[in-house]
Amino acid sequence: MYEITRDYISKGNARSGQLLVGGKPQFGVAHDIGNGASTAYNNRTYFNREQPSASAHTFIDDKYILEIIPVTVGVPEKAWHVIYDVTTDNIMFGDDANDIAIGVELCWGGNIVWAEAYKRYVWYWAYLCRMFSWDPRKKIVPHSQLDPKRKTDPDKNAFVKNCITWDQFISDVVNAMIDSYWQKTDGKWYFYKNGVKQTGWVLDNNKWYYLDAAGVMVIGWQKDKGKWYLLGTDGAMLTGWQHVNDKWYYMHPSGATAFGWLFWGGKWYYLNPKNESGAMLKDTVVEDNGKKYYLNSKGEMATNTEVKVTAKATNDGSLVL
Ligand SMILES: [Zn+2]
Repeated sequence: MYEITRDYISKGNARSGQLLVGGKPQFGVAHDIGNGASTAYNNRTYFNREQPSASAHTFIDDKYILEIIPVTVGVPEKAWHVIYDVTTDNIMFGDDANDIAIGVELCWGGNIVWAEAYKRYVWYWAYLCRMFSWDPRKKIVPHSQLDPKRKTDPDKNAFVKNCITWDQFISDVVNAMIDSYWQKTDGKWYFYKNGVKQTGWVLDNNKWYYLDAAGVMVIGWQKDKGKWYLLGTDGAMLTGWQHVNDKWYYMHPSGATAFGWLFWGGKWYYLNPKNESGAMLKDTVVEDNGKKYYLNSKGEMATNTEVKVTAKATNDGSLVL
């Protein structure tokens, strides 16, 4: 699961506020930060403070996919990532890259873990290709191709230094587009398979998740086909004993909440079936089929032992257990 962080720089030279022609990017320019070793947030700080007449939309390192100029949500703006003098972009795409393209920078070197940064870079490019229905083979171009006299990034710089060819990168993006993936939007997680937003149960990395009718990943209790399930704080379905709000519940291996008697670890337990609670009863007496049973402080049914039960005497003197 990767998250896109949107933390825009203020308007100035680096972010003019001018809108991308056509209202959305028409292609993407792959870059890497030539100087090396500065993180996505280092770059954001620099562009925000110095406001040079250069910029890019997105900076990616081993921790962040950071959009510093609006481009994938809201109204996409221009960034200055390819010099206007070059003509390759006009020949290939009919306009200047700055006016119609997104610029994405790969941050690498120093303490940045290459493999993690590269995975995020590939994932983000796949995300863009899905979002804008781009064929990665046609719509992603290296900066070096647009400006060969001045630039080597990323294929002849970061990639070659980390043993990745341009063809390998494009094929990694293609593969990432086919894969299923999580996406976080407005604080909610969605799950896609082959580009299609999923609903209901999905299995990912050997864990079950439940997505509601809108595709939003559910956390907490969820009823499905008459059974109750519990999804953990990370959305993964829980099984076995679970402690929630000071009460114990038992979830079968299928994930369904247990109700009534449960034989577990050589002991009988009673999971309150009343109002579909499922909470384990303890320190109390339950009546079942005309017989009474005592559940001790651990919730275990008492057998072959003496128990002391507290009862309440009613108005007429009869006891209520
Ligand atoms: Zn570049």
